[in-house]
Amino acid sequence: MKKLFAISALTVAVITGCSTTSSLNSTSVKSNLLSPKLIVSPNDDRQYQTLTLENGIDVILVSDPSVSKSAAALSVGVGLLHDPMSQQGMAHYLEHMLFLGTEKYPDSKGYSEFMTNNGGAHNAYTWLDITNYMFKVNNDAYDEALDRFSDFFKSPKLYPEYTEKEKNAVNAEWSMRREMDFFGQFKLARNMMGEHPANRFLIGNLETLGDKEGSNLHQETVNFYNKYYSGNIMKLAMISNEPIEQMVAKAKKHFTSIKNKHIEKPSVTQELNYNKVGQKLVHYKPNEDVKTLKLDFTIENNAAEFAVKPNYFITYLLSNEMAGSPAQVLKEQGLISSLTAYATPNSYGNYGTLQVDIQLTDQGIKQRELITGTVLDYIELIKQQGVDSRYFKEIQTSLNNQFRFLEKGDEFGYVSNLADSMQHFPVNHAINASYYYAQFDADAVNAVLEQLTPEHMRVWYISKDEPTEDKLHFYDGEYKIVDLKESDFEHWKKAANFTLSLPSVNTLLPEHFALKTVPADAKKGVQKVIDADGVTIWHAASERFYAQPKGSLKIYINNPESLDDIKTEVALAIWSDLYRLDKAKLMTEASVAGMYLGLTPSNGLMLDISGFTDKQSLLLKDALSGLQISVSERAFEQAVDRYVRGIQNQAKEFPFRQAFSVYQKLVRSGSYDDAALIAAAKSLTVGDLETVQDHVLSNNQVRVFAYGNYDKSDLEVLKSTLDNILAKRKNITQYARAAYWKPEKKQTLVWQQDIDVADVAVIDFAVHPVPGYAQKAAAMILQGHLRTAAFERLRTQEQLAYAVGATGVAIDEYSALGFYIQTPVKDAKSMQARFDEYKLEYAEELNKLTSETFAQLKNAVLVSLTEAPKNLSEELQPLLGDWFKENMEFDSKAKLIAAVEAITLADVKDYYQKTVMNPDAARLNIQLRGSKFKSEPFADLPMQIKLDSLEQAKKQVKFQP
Ligand SMILES: [Zn+2]
Repeated sequence: MKKLFAISALTVAVITGCSTTSSLNSTSVKSNLLSPKLIVSPNDDRQYQTLTLENGIDVILVSDPSVSKSAAALSVGVGLLHDPMSQQGMAHYLEHMLFLGTEKYPDSKGYSEFMTNNGGAHNAYTWLDITNYMFKVNNDAYDEALDRFSDFFKSPKLYPEYTEKEKNAVNAEWSMRREMDFFGQFKLARNMMGEHPANRFLIGNLETLGDKEGSNLHQETVNFYNKYYSGNIMKLAMISNEPIEQMVAKAKKHFTSIKNKHIEKPSVTQELNYNKVGQKLVHYKPNEDVKTLKLDFTIENNAAEFAVKPNYFITYLLSNEMAGSPAQVLKEQGLISSLTAYATPNSYGNYGTLQVDIQLTDQGIKQRELITGTVLDYIELIKQQGVDSRYFKEIQTSLNNQFRFLEKGDEFGYVSNLADSMQHFPVNHAINASYYYAQFDADAVNAVLEQLTPEHMRVWYISKDEPTEDKLHFYDGEYKIVDLKESDFEHWKKAANFTLSLPSVNTLLPEHFALKTVPADAKKGVQKVIDADGVTIWHAASERFYAQPKGSLKIYINNPESLDDIKTEVALAIWSDLYRLDKAKLMTEASVAGMYLGLTPSNGLMLDISGFTDKQSLLLKDALSGLQISVSERAFEQAVDRYVRGIQNQAKEFPFRQAFSVYQKLVRSGSYDDAALIAAAKSLTVGDLETVQDHVLSNNQVRVFAYGNYDKSDLEVLKSTLDNILAKRKNITQYARAAYWKPEKKQTLVWQQDIDVADVAVIDFAVHPVPGYAQKAAAMILQGHLRTAAFERLRTQEQLAYAVGATGVAIDEYSALGFYIQTPVKDAKSMQARFDEYKLEYAEELNKLTSETFAQLKNAVLVSLTEAPKNLSEELQPLLGDWFKENMEFDSKAKLIAAVEAITLADVKDYYQKTVMNPDAARLNIQLRGSKFKSEPFADLPMQIKLDSLEQAKKQVKFQP
């Protein structure tokens, strides 16, 4: 499930991605497989209670005395499928409007200010059949937060004045997303459904939302709210540190007075005519340079069969990487680089999709019929021999293991997922629906397989070179749709004549869950366990999660070359990519077995292994033994092609993300210009790749951070496994890491660049002249206040953007504070001018900051910093940060906390004066000019040093030692 939440805690997002949950068709639930009570993981010691309020709201309450923040989410079972055609985007637009004031709390910025002052975060999303709202906040502010939040659903103001304004924010959100190929393809897929309700515009913009003949936006907003916001289609999830009885009282107190309008849960029943929707070939020309083949089957919504998982069963077989699978066979032929299958049973309401996504090579582009035929052959093989209970057992074991040791996550995400899941599954299965595989059900599997036929199928050819004849209306994408005949499929299947076979047994599934550390081990902190022959291994036991039979290994083969040598930089990336292709079978098997394997380039190579420790040594051996790749000329060229397209496609990302990526590269040593990377990749040879591999494996220093369930002998085995691959080593090199920009007085670095997408993005940072924790601490406290104020002024009031805010950043020992925006309505120069004015306006606002509000803001930062980690990964993160920086005291976080405790109101005011208001402060200003504003000027800054390239930038700046 890919849900893209907003870019900052304050933005209100539409989901961008595919949801895998789905509507519940209760008639087909096999009731004997359903639990009479809520199922939670055996690893979960929190207290739960479910109840239904008098007004029909189903509730799940979670009491966890260890949390520092409390959270709640409320979902409404209505979404874009029910938008009025006269105001498309209504469900999403209403979602925005609810944040802008209620009867009891009428101030449009009251909610976000309250959240910022109390360490909160809030968001919402809208999808086809759901609108989901969520927040988290410091425990002591929970009651008031609930009061404010629940008022959304009782008496929102829906101010006519903001009706006019907020449609601009929705329009800016659409402007930001219209170039995303996912949205374009999803819209086209829905266009092809003709009269079906799924065929409508999801986000909304100024064209669809507004007053028109016979339809008044404000009135329709009120009508939509009145019609659908009813207690009986709402689901509520809450978590806090309070005892469960108190939580019951809170749920009743705040949510019982939401009206129950006794409406029927909105659903879609319109049937599809497969003769019209299927058997199509879609040529699609995307914005990104991809080479994709998609086999897209429309299936009936079978989400109610979650307990017997027919979709999972089929996609598990289709995606496997073992000998004789389509993925393996087609990769061996050099035709594809990846193949994945997944199902989304409710992507169109009462219908969904089962898709096979294939990334092609240039050779593969010429053989698309053969590839399609091969997958169709494999579906045939599954139909004939694959519906076998042994795969059920493997999947069930895998899911059971995951659920048995399920870890806690962030409260915000947890309640949000629960409130979503409750809309789509019976409440008692809201937590375990995706892990619960009750029994093998051949009929259910066959029922889906029977739908995988040409009439249900659309074949997508997606690349820059497709023929097109039409353009999408709301999105940037061109296409051409061609009818297919049954005989085409037969022809394709004949073209494919590989010997295919079903997967063999996974050998990596854990069999034992032995615990190898005790809480007392964690007291010792991080220990250097082995230090010999240029291999150093550190180990730390988990303090809180020692009962998890899991662990994480970071194996760092560190080599300094790529900081100064672009060829090494590129070769490391291509090496990692080829390794992933080579080890796809191992990675997939590991993933089913509850482990992770990954290799990434970073001053050498970082090999990551994590998950259940039982079979990690087997995985490690296989992972390391094939580390050095020997590669054919053709496979090498294909990898270079992927690398080059990967860099080029970054130019299609959201402008504000591109701006942050420029920022990241500017402040770090060892980064290269895109053009230089592409040129280096194109001139790289197989021989160069071999040389770099030999060089890195013979000149390096190896560092390992082992965290969690390992004992001494595990680490000794690890050491000897490593010794094998290091047999060729000639030199032990110095540990290398990138250095950061050393800002100087009055140094004003300005980056102005034209980009290939429509909007403008501006980032404007001012650096504090003094490095240190005290400054970082002040920036952390100040940024929340500044962000909320800037959002209220520049978005809610002035409607300049969807993505806008302020943030503090650390540049190694230094800190900086500044603004960012992506705007569809202002050019770079006017936007910079508005920022410059706003800096003065905020200075006045900051002067008025009371000591009471300051105390709240400071407390909010402290609560966040001192929160207990909720899982292994959260516990590990601060240790890893210090480990990379070679701070073997592992005390960065403690120092930051101490610094925050010491900060006064005067300190944060002084911080603002010494950064944003300081004409002598070093500045970093990035302006990306979108295509819509090409003829408008950039902003020139006083004393600016214009940077044309990273190469030039590195000559202009110094780096911190
Ligand atoms: Zn939105």
